[in-house]
Amino acid sequence: MKIRQVITGQTGLSRTDRVAALCYACNLTTEQVYSNLDAQIDDGDLAVLEACLKDRMSGKPLAYITGKREFFSETFMVNESVLIPRPETEILIEEALRQLNGRKGCAILDMGCGSGAIGAIMAKETGNRVTCVDISYEAVGVARKNAEAVGVGSLMEFVCSDLFEAFKPDIRFDMILANLPYVTHEEWKSLMTDVRDFEPRLALYGGEDGLDVYRRLTASMPGRLVPGGDILLEIGSGRQAEELKAVLEKTGLSIRVINDYAMRERVLAGHG
Ligand code: GLN
Repeated sequence: MKIRQVITGQTGLSRTDRVAALCYACNLTTEQVYSNLDAQIDDGDLAVLEACLKDRMSGKPLAYITGKREFFSETFMVNESVLIPRPETEILIEEALRQLNGRKGCAILDMGCGSGAIGAIMAKETGNRVTCVDISYEAVGVARKNAEAVGVGSLMEFVCSDLFEAFKPDIRFDMILANLPYVTHEEWKSLMTDVRDFEPRLALYGGEDGLDVYRRLTASMPGRLVPGGDILLEIGSGRQAEELKAVLEKTGLSIRVINDYAMRERVLAGHG
């Protein structure tokens, strides 16, 4: 079979998916795929390609098939125990970098780290120490590998814990970042099957109004943030923004809401 036949073939998948599958199976860049349309795919690559197209047809996200996803110009390893890093989360990081404003010697926390994408980028961009926490033991393992791959393993620590449960009472952070589950019960029912059937429910589903885990975080936050510290939380709607803003303001933080590129409320930025 030739590359051209895969690209033009009727497989029920988008061209983007077919080209990505070719890149992965034949170990080519997109440019190489398009400049070798008449090349024959050898038997070994063809077997990988067919398995890959079949997986994608079943709804499996491409990132789980290839085992990786680009985020903030780095490549992160992913598997089904972690959420695939989303472009919206780059907004949280950009805001965190602005708030940190070049400060050094800070202790940063990535609460609910999943693949460790937020924490590893913060360590890489700022040189500060970052603690990654996740309730999932498998996720902590993925985050650790990603930290090594990004070259910041020595700046990072990894803890398997349900929020602050495993932390001694006197441990505090200068900056707390979190992308905890926030999908509501209603949203869960209409979520794309690619997401709902493959990505970890533990990382997405936040109960009736999506805020179950965030409410537990905000309740345990006083005493965990140094005075004058910063928090940044990723959320999914204006209603969630309003509710969490009210809770956090009661603890003395001043809160701003930052929208994503689709003008949806996406990040709560707080300053102590
Ligand atoms: N943005 C993700 C989604 O809509 C949800 C991420 C999360 O719950 N933290 O699939």
